[in-house]
Amino acid sequence: MNETVRPGSDPDSADLSRWRGEPDALRAWAEIDLAALRANVRSLRARAAGAEVMAVVKADAYGHGMIPCARAAREAGATWLGTATPDEALALRAAGVDGPVLCWLWTPGGPWREAVEAEIDISVSARWALEEVVAAARAAGRMARVQLKADTGLGRNGCQPADWPELTAAARAAERDGLIRVTGVWSHFACADEPGHPSIAAQLTAYRQALATAEAVGLRPEVRHLANSPATLTLPESHFDLVRTGVAMYGISPVPQLGSPADYGLRPVMSLVAKLASVKRVPGGHGVSYGHLYTTPGETTLGLVPLGYADGIPRHASGTGPVLVAGKWRTVAGRVAMDQFVVDLGGDAAEVGDRAVLFGPGDQGEPTAEDWARAAGTIAYEIVTRIGARVPRVYTDSGRRVSTGE
Ligand SMILES: *Cc1c(COP(=O)(O)O)cnc(C)c1O
Repeated sequence: MNETVRPGSDPDSADLSRWRGEPDALRAWAEIDLAALRANVRSLRARAAGAEVMAVVKADAYGHGMIPCARAAREAGATWLGTATPDEALALRAAGVDGPVLCWLWTPGGPWREAVEAEIDISVSARWALEEVVAAARAAGRMARVQLKADTGLGRNGCQPADWPELTAAARAAERDGLIRVTGVWSHFACADEPGHPSIAAQLTAYRQALATAEAVGLRPEVRHLANSPATLTLPESHFDLVRTGVAMYGISPVPQLGSPADYGLRPVMSLVAKLASVKRVPGGHGVSYGHLYTTPGETTLGLVPLGYADGIPRHASGTGPVLVAGKWRTVAGRVAMDQFVVDLGGDAAEVGDRAVLFGPGDQGEPTAEDWARAAGTIAYEIVTRIGARVPRVYTDSGRRVSTGE
């Protein structure tokens, strides 16, 4: 039989009533539980023990919807917001979200001036970027807020130790000229999700050296920060003034090999639900979906789930992805197509319109995003972030549907 049950879960107790009340016109939806997000932020603040929390809302808040999540995170006490691209940071401002925002992924051309005028903290890793920011500050007649990023070992963005003395000195000179203010000095971990990895201690040491150099040239940053979600949860000595939490805030464990979200006081924020678009009896030996990778072992009932790789369901989960339908875990039967995939319901009763829960918090018997990550050979970050624009986000707060005004 083409079904699996999570070890320890009781499929007979699966209760889908939580997802019954959705508007009839929706084919599928991602439910975003803002109360869970706020509780996660509070939980992370407690872990950060005195350090401030930056809510990382890049990539449409990891697929959860940037503006509602940014607002909820702020309500729960996240003092900073973090984005990758300038477009994301400016979209926060356009929606009326104020307060500190750090943006870290810049390319020549900016948009520097818009960012300076919107009082966005601009991350600078190299002289070319410092020069473009300084020129924009001069043109705008305003001081730019700059955070200098050191490469302490990740090898991605950030300034190499050999170039750091020159970059910090140039930034200090621009500060003296009244053109910028260096508000932060920061860096990013490579392997914080592998506690004990030797690079972690090496990066901490390199970061302290970068801070010492910055202070020696006269910089006095408001915030010094290094920790992402895994470091926030497992490495208190990395917290400094601020922790930058992304995935943990969305209730996903950044170190799934060490603990579940609940072990860290977190609860998954996104649930992905669809209505069966077809339920039909087919004879044994019937091929299912493109390539006929699955053939019905006997007469059976097939259910059609109207979500596919265009909606972010990984095609790599063909034949492996778990779905809760009619009280049991089913496995994607055959290929995931662009818009749909099939599950084999065996002899179980189901009707069109029945809920198929792909993932959720996991406490109603449904799979989690982590289960999908394992099925598709990826990480849960990617599962939630790739849920497509065609899937409406439905916001709830303590079980009730809320309008976010978008
Ligand atoms: C995405 C990102 C984060 C958040 O990482 P999580 O592991 O999701 O907490 C923090 N800092 C930087 C620079 C990032 O790019």
